[in-house]
Order: sequence, then C-alpha cells, then structure tokens
Amino acid sequence: MDKTKLTMDKIVNLCKTRGLIFPGSEIYGGMGNTWDYGPAGVELKNNIKRSWWKRFVQESTNSYGIDAAILMNSRVWDASGHTSSFSDPMMDCKNCKTRHRADNLIENHSKGAVNPDTMTTEEMQAYIENHKVNCPKCGNYAWTPIRQFNLMFQTSRGVTEEGGNKIYLRPETAQGEFVNFLNVQRTTRAKVPFGIAQIGKAFRNEITPGNFIFRTIEFEQMEHQWFCHEKDRDNFYYEFKDKAMKYLLDLGISPDHLRFHDHDKLAHYAKAACDIQYLFPIGWSELNGIHNRSDYDLSRHQEFSGKSMLYQDPFTNEKFVPSVIEYSIGADRLTLAVLSEAYDEETLENGETRVVMHFHPAIAPYKVAILPLQKNLSEKAREVFASLSKEFMCDYDEAGSIGKRYRRQDEIGTPFCVTIDFDTLEDNTVTIRDRDTMKQERIAISDLTSYIAERIKFN
Ligand code: ATP
Repeated sequence: MDKTKLTMDKIVNLCKTRGLIFPGSEIYGGMGNTWDYGPAGVELKNNIKRSWWKRFVQESTNSYGIDAAILMNSRVWDASGHTSSFSDPMMDCKNCKTRHRADNLIENHSKGAVNPDTMTTEEMQAYIENHKVNCPKCGNYAWTPIRQFNLMFQTSRGVTEEGGNKIYLRPETAQGEFVNFLNVQRTTRAKVPFGIAQIGKAFRNEITPGNFIFRTIEFEQMEHQWFCHEKDRDNFYYEFKDKAMKYLLDLGISPDHLRFHDHDKLAHYAKAACDIQYLFPIGWSELNGIHNRSDYDLSRHQEFSGKSMLYQDPFTNEKFVPSVIEYSIGADRLTLAVLSEAYDEETLENGETRVVMHFHPAIAPYKVAILPLQKNLSEKAREVFASLSKEFMCDYDEAGSIGKRYRRQDEIGTPFCVTIDFDTLEDNTVTIRDRDTMKQERIAISDLTSYIAERIKFN
C-alpha cells in the first residue's frame, strides 16, 4: 500500500479489534497515555524483546543481562541529575486550560526550521512571544510563563506519607546498569570493554499527547551500556550506531523509513549523540538513542555513593573510570514502528481488500494457526495443535468460513495457516498457507515442525 495513506487511527483500530492493544482502564473511560497489551499484542512485544535480547546479550561474548529493581535509593537520581534537571518546559493556555511543551510549540510553529533543543528557557520564551505562537488547541495567545516540570513520578516509602522517604519510579532503566557495574564486572570476571543490558519498565509523567504507544507514562526500555576506555569510545560509538541500525533492518524495517539524526545540543560531558528516527504515521520521530558519554555516569555514582568505580586493566595496570556508550530503545515505541511497517492493505483479484500484517515471522504473535475445515475434524486438528504448540505459539480456530479465518490470521500477521481436511485423516498430510503469498502447499504432519522452524528464524 501507499504508506503515506497509513494513519495512526487505522493502526489503533486494528490493534483494538484484533486483540493487540486496548486503551488502558477502558471501562472507566480510560486513562490518558496508558495502553494494555491484549493476547496477540503481548506475544508481539515479548517476541520483540526476545529478538533484542538475542541480538544484544545472547549473541555477545561480553554483554551481560540484569534485571534491576524499579525502585532505587533516591540518591541514585541525585547522582544521575534527574531530581534537578529531568524536566520539560511547560506552558498552560489560560484560555482553554490545556498544557503544552514550549519546545514542541516552537518546533511545530517553525515547521522544524528552529531546533528548540539548543535554546535556553529564556530563548524559548522570547521566541514564543516574538512570533506570537498561539495555542494549538483554541487558537488564542494567553500563555503562562514557561515552567520546568519534573517528569519523575514520586511516591513515599514508609507507614505514613508525611514521615516516609520520598522515592521515585525510575524514569529510565540505565541507572540500574550503572549501579551494578562493579557487581557484574566482578562476578563475571568481565574485562573492559564489556556491556550490561536490561529490559524493564520506566515511568515518566508525560503530559503531552501520546500518539498511541509512541509516548506513554509507563513503558519498557531495552538499554545496553557499553563500558570502555576513554580512548576507544569513538570507535565503539560508531560500532553501536551500525549495530543499532542493523538490528532494525533485520527486523524487516525498510531502510527508507529509518535515518540517523545527530544531536546539536549535547550534555556538557557528552562527545556525541544521535537518534535513529523512524517514519511513523506522525512523521519522522525518535525510535532509539545512542550516546557517546564520558565517564560521567560512573564518576557521579562514585562521588555520590563514596564507592570507588575505578577499574584496573589487567594487562596495562592502568586504573580508570570507564566511559560509556549508551544504547536505548523503547520496546513499545519499537512495537509501534513494527506495527506501522507491517501494516498493508492489498486489493485481491476479486476486488476485496485484504489487511495483512507482514511481521517478520520471528516476532509474529502466533507462528501458526490450526484450522479444521469442519468442526467434525477438530479431534485431528487438536492433535496437530498439541504437537505444534510444544514448539511454537499457535492459534486454534474452528469458527466461521475458512476465508474469514484466513483474513483474521492475516490481520494479526500469522505467517502460516494449517488446514486440516478429510484427506488429513487418510494420509496425515495438511495444507499449509503462506501469509504473504497466500500460496498453499500440501505437506506431511511429521514435517510441519521443521518446515515452520526453518522459516521463522531471527538471525
Ligand atoms: P523523547 O524525546 O521522544 O521524549 P527521549 O529522548 O526522552 O525521547 P530517552 O530518554 O533517550 O528518550 O529514552 C530512550 C528511548 O526510550 C527513546 O528512544 C524511546 O524509544 C523510549 N521512550 C522514551 N520516552 C518514552 C515514552 N514516554 N513512551 C514510550 N517510549 C519512550
């Protein structure tokens, strides 16, 4: 299909009707920027996470996975700078009472010609005043001054709210990797350079429009910190840029829909940073970040915790605090990219439109659907399901016409449909249909596992 015709509404509707993703707390009227993954959606996201873990942990000799606690000692966030500066520049419209990010207002007003990332709060305020940037909701110019709004969710630990200690839901998973640097290095006997990866939930009090699962207040990150000597960091930065891009291409995302975007504004300790942007239905937007940081992260934790983060090179005996190359991608944002990329509307020979999700088979929610042609073939079909489901996530469907059942599987991107018919009872063969070509083949039940396994690999 012509991808310029793909709207977010189409994806949201398909996700809702096919059990991929539902609005959060829907029966209570929902809750802004929260979404629940349904039966097909949880499989899709789990498979994406698995493919990432395979690529970044399993296939690496010196990257190690962890699963750190979401709630961390508050000093972690002082050391990381989140308590003082993890904020968005917010403005309220006094007329319609909506809240907006000043940087987004400037970016939209200038149609991308002005980069607010390079501006101070005062410069943003001046731009909005000088250009009379109106409220995108009501069209009036009635702004409050810009206020920095911290995005961390707070809660308190202890029996009473007043007496309790203030703690935060982590806004990123990265700090779990930094504070475990020494634990992982010592227990694995890893030598620098090496990596620590984790997949986990992060929380941000985002108040700007979410655009479905692009921006949510609770989301999952897949992060990988690479610890290296300062002199090697530039090389590793380029290596990680390539690795990050290759992973997305291997997932089946078209190179035409991906691009690097270098950051103009860098943190004082950073040498370089870039995003990989994807052409979402809302336009080019960040999918994944790669940062060439200094020894800032470990040095700050050394300073705030009082624990030495020095590493001694066993060959040169040099002692140093390692630098970090950070690679970070949102599992939900990647799920949205994968959904947008896979979505297709085809016109069939009979004039009907077929909606089909061309997921890479490795991440498709179900690998195979077992479809008895008639209900009285269900015993044999359940036998086939029982054997295939030991290896793969399978769907089973015996309701409705076979055409409608194929369409349903196409819409959740099931790469193979296996039909059980009366010949199956005679000769133990089945028809297997390919999602993309719609071609059918007759094969022996005993060959099904290897046939499917061969075609769903993620390499
Ligand atoms: P943005 O500019 O879009 O707010 P960011 O630069 O703050 O993103 P990072 O802090 O670098 O994002 O987080 C790394 C990745 O985590 C992002 O590239 C994105 O994939 C994901 N991510 C960040 N915030 C959210 C969110 N609110 N909802 C979903 N995914 C998110």
